[in-house]
Amino acid sequence: MKYLGAHVSAAGGADQAVQRAVEIGADAFALFTKNQRQWKGKPLTDEAIQAFRDACAEHNFAPEQILPHDSYLINLGHPEQEGLRKSRDAFLDEMQRCEQLGLTLLNFHPGSHLNKISESDCLKRIAESVNEALTHTQGVTAVIENTAGQGTNLGWRFEHLAEIIAHVDDKTRVGVCIDTCHAFAAGYDLRTTEATQATLDELGSVVGFEYLRGMHLNDAKSNLASRVDRHHSLGKGNIGLPAFTAIMQEPRINAIPMILETIEPEIWADEIAWLRAQAS
Ligand SMILES: [Zn+2]
Ligand SMILES: [Zn+2]
Repeated sequence: MKYLGAHVSAAGGADQAVQRAVEIGADAFALFTKNQRQWKGKPLTDEAIQAFRDACAEHNFAPEQILPHDSYLINLGHPEQEGLRKSRDAFLDEMQRCEQLGLTLLNFHPGSHLNKISESDCLKRIAESVNEALTHTQGVTAVIENTAGQGTNLGWRFEHLAEIIAHVDDKTRVGVCIDTCHAFAAGYDLRTTEATQATLDELGSVVGFEYLRGMHLNDAKSNLASRVDRHHSLGKGNIGLPAFTAIMQEPRINAIPMILETIEPEIWADEIAWLRAQAS
């Protein structure tokens, strides 16, 4: 069983994201619980929390089918104290919003060294940030997303994800989300069924499928190993459809939200239906 959906808008309230997921035939979705381009979000009201919980219950969305995404501003590996503090505070706020909404996963981009500290120092810092957030919350798993490796972003190699996990104290509350476009841009080939199998095998041996808590299914406008993050609709980019068929038929990927962040929301319903058909 694979849960399929898209990153839908939460304009008008988180409960509206549920409605938008239902409209495209999804049984998973992603959302921002606050404006992703601002540091501070308005606190969630009791009414907003209840409306979200009611909508999830009405449409049978369990927490493991929902993959909230944190703000783009947060850098949990920030090399400077002030930036690090601000990011850690904002991340804790994001985790607490998830707790309030009854959500159990929070997807985040690991962080950037900004050419001021080494890669390994930055990866340790990210893990320490996760440890701090986990200490102050309950029931929410920090889900590290692989990146395309643009600029000084870490997390583009599977080894980076494994190293962060190695330094997280509570292994039951840390996981990964693999974005196919980011993996491809980082140099993991997905252009054929065989290449996709090999990339998945590498994920299994370096990180382990027990940590896979979500996926972002995106084709890529950017090229293999370009380190450039440009999403495309399924089958229209440089990855092509065989990878997505292989992923839908992969038995090691099970019971996790698989989220489209493709560039034509008007065809999300068709993309979801196509993906579902691949699994059967
Ligand atoms: Zn992301
Ligand atoms: Zn991306």
